[in-house]
Amino acid sequence: MTFPKNTPKFTRNELNVYRRPSEVSQVTAALRGVGRNLALVPTMGALHAGHRELIRRAKRLPNTIVAVSIFVNPLQFGEGEDFEAYPRSLDHDLETLRELGVELVFLPEVEDLYGRSGVTVTLDPGPLGGELEGEMRPGHFSGMLTVVAKLLNITRPHYAFFGEKDYQQLVLVKRMVEDLNLETRIVGVPTVREDDGLALSSRNAYLSEEDRRGAAALSTALGMGVHAGADGAEAVLDAAHRELAAHPEIEIEYVELRGTDLGPAPVDGDARLLIAAKVGRTRLIDNTPVPLGAAATGGGDQDAVGDDDAAGDGPKAATAGTTPSQQGY
Ligand code: AMP
Repeated sequence: MTFPKNTPKFTRNELNVYRRPSEVSQVTAALRGVGRNLALVPTMGALHAGHRELIRRAKRLPNTIVAVSIFVNPLQFGEGEDFEAYPRSLDHDLETLRELGVELVFLPEVEDLYGRSGVTVTLDPGPLGGELEGEMRPGHFSGMLTVVAKLLNITRPHYAFFGEKDYQQLVLVKRMVEDLNLETRIVGVPTVREDDGLALSSRNAYLSEEDRRGAAALSTALGMGVHAGADGAEAVLDAAHRELAAHPEIEIEYVELRGTDLGPAPVDGDARLLIAAKVGRTRLIDNTPVPLGAAATGGGDQDAVGDDDAAGDGPKAATAGTTPSQQGY
């Protein structure tokens, strides 16, 4: 089987770079046409071990071409946020993708995706889009969903991989795919952490040495919360707050315990603890699964968002009954 005539060039086992949506659409259509599966890993670049884990998971799928997109999406940054300053390291990123054996990267410019006059029709993330991160960052999830919908439409992947690090994003993308009858299967990947528990993030590059030490307290607080899970929701929140209170340099934006779908937390069963805070001038977010009540002692289904993880369990997925330190916090 060969590609239709006039399909842009695609060389197997090499990193093929495309900038224009029309090119990448034709190539991905041709790959689907010859029976290959496609897995998309959307990123904003400045690739780190968290991104690499998403890519490695995607590469485990049989007969699958992994496509990575790198696009710092202005639509999901609010006024006064770090769009201009956001770390960009294209050469290093391309090297990383080559090392990982990625065969396709989509690198659009802003104008390639939004045209010269900018986008006017955007997606409404619904009520959850105004809570937690959405309350702190108005418009963020509309901008995020709009670009993800565009990327899914342009590449039409069978799978798309997202990190649990941005848990609300993962929940909303799954919701969008369901509500809009999109055909891509969304796969959640557990958060990759530094040895001291700090969740990897491109924004960690902003942390001063001193802030970096304080930043680890976010994951410690999550671990304390998990530890208190058997005693219920209030105990979880108290434990997390107690840890954070020991770090006056941390300015809390929210500490919330929710259900795995980010609705209200159950009394007993699987919940999610989410934290957003500023450490120095850097805004960080983190979250963890928390089994509550009997689920904390009896062992419940921990990984609700990653439950249709097509690529298997993650090395650092928290499991019921482990202590915070065993979970890598
Ligand atoms: P970003 O480039 O920050 O937009 O992230 C691209 C994708 O990588 C998103 O799905 C993130 O949730 C995911 N990601 C970022 N950091 C991590 C991490 N530490 N562990 C796992 N996934 C991550």
